[in-house]
Amino acid sequence: MSEAIDRLKTQLHYEKTFDCVQCGYCLPACPTYETMGKETHSPRGRINLVKMAAEGKIGVETMREPIEKCLGCRACQTVCPTNVQYGEILEGAKSVLEDLEEKSKKQRMTENFIFNELFTSRRWMNLIGNATWFYQKSGLQAIARNTGMTSIAPLHLDKFEAVLPEVASPFERRNSPGLVKAKGSSKLRVGFVRGCVMDSVFHQTNKNTIELLSRAGAEVVIPKAQTCCGALHSHTGKLEEARQLAKQNIEAFENEKVDYIVNNAGGCGAMLVEYDQLLKDDPDWEMRAQHFSKKTRDVSVVLTELDGLEFHHSVNERVTYQSSCHMLHVQKVAAEPLELLRKVPGITYREMPGYDRCCGSAGIYNIVNYEDSMEILDLKMEKTVETKADTIVTTNPGCLLQMKLGIQREGLENKVRALHLVDFLIEANPQPK
Ligand code: SF4
Ligand code: SF4
Repeated sequence: MSEAIDRLKTQLHYEKTFDCVQCGYCLPACPTYETMGKETHSPRGRINLVKMAAEGKIGVETMREPIEKCLGCRACQTVCPTNVQYGEILEGAKSVLEDLEEKSKKQRMTENFIFNELFTSRRWMNLIGNATWFYQKSGLQAIARNTGMTSIAPLHLDKFEAVLPEVASPFERRNSPGLVKAKGSSKLRVGFVRGCVMDSVFHQTNKNTIELLSRAGAEVVIPKAQTCCGALHSHTGKLEEARQLAKQNIEAFENEKVDYIVNNAGGCGAMLVEYDQLLKDDPDWEMRAQHFSKKTRDVSVVLTELDGLEFHHSVNERVTYQSSCHMLHVQKVAAEPLELLRKVPGITYREMPGYDRCCGSAGIYNIVNYEDSMEILDLKMEKTVETKADTIVTTNPGCLLQMKLGIQREGLENKVRALHLVDFLIEANPQPK
């Protein structure tokens, strides 16, 4: 019995919950505390629930709903004066809840397929890309929209269908290179993390990222053996699966002798920089994971460091920036995207009040907690509208779709657009220095 309690305490990172001094500084930073208005749905409240569950004062199931309603945005961690490692506490709680959850055989099989086959297989991701491309180009999309057939999709997927980007053709995606040389003299050799969804649905953004890096003076290697970063696995408590993916990625990049490992999705980047934590108890992988995490950079950081782009084309737009939470609160990347935006001649930058606050996308939070997510998004859009911006720039595919959804909810489709930072920069047509 006491062995089981000790194991639960370890899994729940019980010791770390004592770092919380109950000051409440994190409460105003928490979007779910703002919209749900309950202590149990604040960072402090969630930490207390985890602590009480570890001590056996409440059943583990009592913490399920508040934990599942947490965005995992980590804004609480940034403002916490005692540096509480909320991310670790949250992932531990999710892992315990995942182990205890009773699921039907059908549910388990579906989850196994989604997490162990779909996201991890390049073949499946290509098939999704091909099917979406065919749907968009064959006229099926127009028929489905005109006849209202999209509304029968479950989980509000019709809303997301409406904001999907145009997917690149199978031919374009098949011809992805393994190496792209620097334009001009090479200053760095970098490995590029193409991601899973990013590479099929946001292929053009990946292409633009590689092009910008090359124009700025980096030789870009794209290892074929890489796989999904494991963020969705980790955020749903499937830590063992996340570890396997991390190992595959570490192996794929460590033979390439690169200076940096570059990604363009805030959520994936946050996962990659924490591979060292994920594998810290595995003596065979601990050091290798540390090397990997140390080399991981968001593309905005590498482009800023290279300082190899010159912008001549004037873009006369009012631009605002919505940061990816994981980029800001986990990767701690704040200044570089703004520095790059300010290099573009002609733009008027309008700071969004609360740009550091989650938009409600949070991985698949907006799919599984749609109503809660939309409440958070509506608050975000109030602030966005205040900026009077024509263009919202962001740094993560989930945030991008969520902002597009927000534009649609506000009826601003003809006035405002949302773009990934690299797509905005490539549009501004920078040339190598
Ligand atoms: S700010 Fe940190 S110490 Fe204070 S209540 Fe929140 S988590 Fe606890
Ligand atoms: S991670 Fe975000 S939603 Fe969750 S408790 Fe912290 S601030 Fe609130």
